[in-house]
Amino acid sequence: MYIELIAAGILGAVIGSFLNVCIHRIPRGESIAFPPSHCPHCQHRLGPLDLVPVFSWLWLRGKCRYCRDGIAVRYPVVELLTALLFAQAAANTATLAGFGERALVAACLVVIFFIDLEHQLIFHRVLAVWLLASLLPLADGGAFNYYDRLVGAGIGGGFLLLLYIITRGGIGEGDVKMSLVAGWWLGFPGAILYLFISFIVGGAVAAVLLAAKIKGRRDPIPFGPFLCVGAWVACYWGQAIWQWYWR
Ligand SMILES: [Zn+2]
Repeated sequence: MYIELIAAGILGAVIGSFLNVCIHRIPRGESIAFPPSHCPHCQHRLGPLDLVPVFSWLWLRGKCRYCRDGIAVRYPVVELLTALLFAQAAANTATLAGFGERALVAACLVVIFFIDLEHQLIFHRVLAVWLLASLLPLADGGAFNYYDRLVGAGIGGGFLLLLYIITRGGIGEGDVKMSLVAGWWLGFPGAILYLFISFIVGGAVAAVLLAAKIKGRRDPIPFGPFLCVGAWVACYWGQAIWQWYWR
């Protein structure tokens, strides 16, 4: 069991390294496959030693080996986070298809979280991967309730669409589309909890940012990261919360 968790964690760290490439290049319209990893400052191609997840950042003390330019702390954070999410996926699933689904969705959530945080954009191709991942349980005959998922998609997408109309674009189109996919993935009643958690966490963080004057009233606060947290919490703890609430 521990071996599986460690293996999933190592896989997650390696995938996290690739997700860093996605997070940097997708908003810039660059290919995620080519050219190979290079320093964005001096363009020097990175060798195998520069690409060891988390550790190369630590032993280079967050600086490029070739030009000494700083490497954002986001790089080791994304790698470590993906490692933890993959280990969590392995601990909570019994089949390879089940693990694949959770791991793939975790990867999508990490990419959406960090791109939206920086650029206020959610990209269709990431949502498409998430949608494909949601179909993986079909591969090994796992439980798959279309009706539940359609209701979930209606709740997740519908509520955000309503907000989008009422606030006249106060939230992004990307948030509406993402919520449609998240609702489909979580089904019913997961989608309700997902919305609930996203809005509570989002409201609390926004209140702190405003109170601490880190953000002003007119500054846009990306909503995608909160939707990511909501989807993730609803997936792993949704059932427990639902049962506790109706007890
Ligand atoms: Zn460099």
